Amino acid sequence: MSSQEVEVLVVGGGQAGLAMSEHLSEGGVPHLVLERSRIAERWRSERWDSLVANGPAWHDRFPGLEFVDLDPDAFAGKEQVADYFVAYAEKINAPIRTGVEVTSVTRHADRPGFRAQASDGTTIDARYVVAATGPFQRPVIPPIVPENAGPRQIHSSAYRNPDQLPEGAVVVIGAGSSGVQIADELHRSGRRVYLSVGPHDRPPRRYRGRDFCWWLGVLGLWDAETPPQGAEHVTIAVSGARGGHTVDFRELGRRGITLVGLTAAYDDGILRFAPDLAGNIANGDANYLSLLDAADAYIARNGLDLPEEPEARELGADPDCLTNPVLELDLAEAGVTSIVWATGFAADYGWLKVDAFDERGRPRQRRGVSTEPGVYFLGLPWLSRRGSSFIWGVWHDARYVADHIAISRGYLAYDQSA
Ligand SMILES: Cc1cc2nc3c(=O)[nH]c(=O)nc-3n(C[C@H](O)[C@H](O)[C@H](O)COP(=O)(O)OP(=O)(O)OC[C@H]3O[C@@H](n4cnc5c(N)ncnc54)[C@H](O)[C@@H]3O)c2cc1C
Repeated sequence: MSSQEVEVLVVGGGQAGLAMSEHLSEGGVPHLVLERSRIAERWRSERWDSLVANGPAWHDRFPGLEFVDLDPDAFAGKEQVADYFVAYAEKINAPIRTGVEVTSVTRHADRPGFRAQASDGTTIDARYVVAATGPFQRPVIPPIVPENAGPRQIHSSAYRNPDQLPEGAVVVIGAGSSGVQIADELHRSGRRVYLSVGPHDRPPRRYRGRDFCWWLGVLGLWDAETPPQGAEHVTIAVSGARGGHTVDFRELGRRGITLVGLTAAYDDGILRFAPDLAGNIANGDANYLSLLDAADAYIARNGLDLPEEPEARELGADPDCLTNPVLELDLAEAGVTSIVWATGFAADYGWLKVDAFDERGRPRQRRGVSTEPGVYFLGLPWLSRRGSSFIWGVWHDARYVADHIAISRGYLAYDQSA
C-alpha cells in the first residue's frame, strides 16, 4: 500500500474542487484533488439528457474562462458544462486524480493533520482537507408511497428522458427547477402529467431586456448572506430550456398539466394532496412581482434606459386545476404508471470522520471553515450566500477558503522557523 503526503487534500472534482484547486495553485499551496469518477461527473450522469444550465453562459461560468462556440446569452447543455470543467482543469493544470474515491478521513491522534484512505489502496496524509463533494449528494425520496404500490418510482437524478418511463400518466412531485422542467418535457412528449407544487420562488427569466441572473446580481440578491426568514427550503423554479423562459404555472395548467398541492399522503392506491396549491402559486406570484418591482425601482434610481414591459405583470387566467384543485388521485384510475420525485437531496459525509457535524449530520461551518480546525466545506447551499452552491458563487467561496488556509499556514511557518 503506497502513501503520500500533501499539504491540502481536496475531495471531489466538480466545480467546487476545481475552484479550490485554482485558488490554492495561485497561492503556491501544494495540493491534490481526488475525484471518485470523472471531472464534473454529476453533470454527466446524474442529470437528465435535455438539461441545460439554468443561467446563461455569460453568467454560469468561472471568471477565467468563457464557453467556446456558445452565444453568451445561450444556455449550455449539461455535457457542455461538464466539458467546460474538463477544459478548466486543463487550463489551471489541476493536480487531479480521477477514478479514486476517498473512503475515510480521520484526524491524526498525536500530530496535526489528517489521514485519508483512498479506494486505490493509497493513504494520504494531509495538513488540510477540503470537502468538495457537492451540495446535492444523496437523492431524497420522502417515505410516502410504498415501493410496491404499483407505479415505477424514480428520483429526478435518475430521470433521463420520457422514453425511460413505462407508458402511461406520470406524477411529478416537486416543482423546483428540476420538477417543473421534467413535467414540461413529459407533457410535451404526449404524457398525461400531474405536477405537485409546493412553496417556490419563480423569478422572471428576463425582464426589461435583462436575464434574472443579471437582476439578482445588480440587486445584490445572489450575495444575500442568509435565506429570507422561513425560506430556507424554498426552491427556485427557473428554466433555460428552449432558449429560456419564465416558469409560469398557470400556463402549464392551461396547456394541460394538472397542478396539485403538496403531496401529503398515500393510502390504498390513493395519493392525497394538501389544499395549498392556490397559496403556493400566490406566494410564487408575489415573489415574481417583487422582483419586477425591485427591478423597476433599480432602473428608476439609476436612470437606466431599459424598455418598459408592462405585459410582464399580466398573470393570465387561472386554469381549472387551480380553481378546482384535485385533492386526491386514484393512481390506477388515472393510469399513473410512474412517479418522479423531484424532492431534493441530502448530504452524506460518512467518509469524513471528524468532529465537524451537528446532531443532524449537517456541517458545522462558517463560510466553509469548519469547527474542526483544518477541515473545510465548499459548494453547500448558503455556505456564505445565495450563490454558494452555484457555478459562479463557489469560485468566490473557494477563494475565501484558500485565503483561510494561507493565513493558517503563515502562523505554522512562523512556529517552524522559531
Ligand atoms: C438538476 C440540477 C441542475 C443544476 N443547474 C445548475 C445551473 O444551471 N447553474 C448552476 O450554477 N448550478 C446548477 N446546479 C447546482 C450546482 O451547480 C451543481 O449541483 C454542481 O454539480 C455542484 O458542483 P460541486 O462541485 O459543488 O458538486 P458536485 O458536482 O456534486 O461534485 C462533487 C464531486 O465529488 C465527487 N465525490 C463525492 N464523494 C467523493 C469521495 N468520497 N471521494 C472522491 N470524490 C467524491 C463526485 O463524484 C462529484 O464529481 C444544478 C444542480 C442540479 C441538481
